[in-house]
Amino acid sequence: TRTPVNVTVTGAAGNIGYALLFRIASGQLLGADVPVKLRLLEITPALKAAEGTAMELDDCAFPLLRGIDISDDPNVAFDGTNVALLVGARPRTKGMERGDLLEANGGIFAPQGKAINGHAADDVKILVVGNPANTNALIARAAAPDVPAERFTAMTRLDHNRAATQLAKKLGAGVEDVKKLTIWGNHSATQYPDIFHAEVAGRNAAEAVGDEKWLAEDFIPTVAKRGAAIIEARGASSAASAANAAIDHVHTWVNGTADGDWTSMGVVSDGSYGVPEGLISSFPVTTKDGSYEIVQGLEINEFSRARIDASVKELAEERDAVRALGLL
Ligand code: NDP
Repeated sequence: TRTPVNVTVTGAAGNIGYALLFRIASGQLLGADVPVKLRLLEITPALKAAEGTAMELDDCAFPLLRGIDISDDPNVAFDGTNVALLVGARPRTKGMERGDLLEANGGIFAPQGKAINGHAADDVKILVVGNPANTNALIARAAAPDVPAERFTAMTRLDHNRAATQLAKKLGAGVEDVKKLTIWGNHSATQYPDIFHAEVAGRNAAEAVGDEKWLAEDFIPTVAKRGAAIIEARGASSAASAANAAIDHVHTWVNGTADGDWTSMGVVSDGSYGVPEGLISSFPVTTKDGSYEIVQGLEINEFSRARIDASVKELAEERDAVRALGLL
């Protein structure tokens, strides 16, 4: 029998955690033949709620679930972790300045990075979901100098999935026909969903759409503002689709992208496409055997260039703000 994989989830008692844990335990994260041990990290006041979720996990009698540990100590929760899903974060509240937001998140992600550095398994893979995800990943990474930088990733898969559905609907195709979509930049309103290299049922997507006005005024804002539209409609945030995207992100990272396709992940820039080295920015990536590569050699037209640059500028500003706080 296989050794269980340790999966740590932070903010485990939150909304995304509730939508995420049952899917991990059922085998959807790593595969139907991979046993898992769950390690739940919560802040002290939320431990009791996490225990309630653990009771429900027990009650599902998932054959792959080999144990659940709950802790408010990152050194415990990340001990031996193979996959770390950093979901809990300090959300932006009304009137909060960016500096205050980043400082609050520095207080969460720096200690978590340090704990990962000291206690995680050698093969650890980290996905940051909690916002501002890219910069939180940067903070955690800076606190974990012994962990290879490429293990720290930020989630833009939800944006990718949202873009795939919008594009498929526009062209009357199925989402499975959509390939090579890219989300560039920051997981924020400045993100840029790029269809110029995308294919829908084998046809170039931008040509098939043939409507730059739709792209600029409909598609891009719909994808970028989808989270707010869901809050407006549901009266609650898009926790289930965010959890789904986290599952997709890790599943693709571990199991690989299909030939002739790629995915979008926030990863440490190596300077590709003019994105300053070291920023955690979303790129088109292919994955294989648990590692990934940024897709090289794509031509970036003027329409795309301006939008990628704007989002990357925002990431650089966030990095500078975090640096000014002494977190880098
Ligand atoms: P959620 O579980 O709904 O969201 C958690 C984080 O995910 C937020 O930062 C949120 O950002 C982000 N996020 C990313 N994509 C999405 C999306 N598409 N839709 C919604 N959120 C998204 O928050 P809850 O408040 O329900 O739960 C958070 C939990 O984290 C709480 O239980 C809290 O106690 C815990 N926590 C744990 C910490 C720890 O383990 N050390 C530290 C801090 C909090 P945004 O707000 O921008 O939507």
